[in-house]
Amino acid sequence: MTDSAYPQPTLTSTNAPLIEGWRRGELMLQHCNACHAVIFFPRHMCPTCWSVDIAWKRSSGRGKIVSYSHVYSHVTPPFSAEAPTILAEIVLDDGGAMLARVISSEPAAIASNMRVELLPMPEAAQYPLPTFRPAK
Ligand SMILES: [Zn+2]
Repeated sequence: MTDSAYPQPTLTSTNAPLIEGWRRGELMLQHCNACHAVIFFPRHMCPTCWSVDIAWKRSSGRGKIVSYSHVYSHVTPPFSAEAPTILAEIVLDDGGAMLARVISSEPAAIASNMRVELLPMPEAAQYPLPTFRPAK
């Protein structure tokens, strides 16, 4: 468990490997054994071919920003106190794409095609969902 100030996701049988993996500092993603799609967000069946033959695999957590947004309006603390935050579509080097927050001390430097990596522990522990930073 975490003592984070952020709202915490509700664990379900479908999302638990993602959430529990993130609490260890790992990015776990679903892979379809039938069509080889990488699936994000967690689902009980593949959104590409509807197979339920899905396995969890650890991602490197490295990739690049496809597109991003500076979010100025939040309804939930502590996000509202941290605005603007950066929400980005990230394509991962080892397959798949996901929407995630990017933490940066220079938000104005965030750009499409920027390399990003998973936020490492212990900093990662304060965020409830997989979170990235510009690659070092
Ligand atoms: Zn599939």
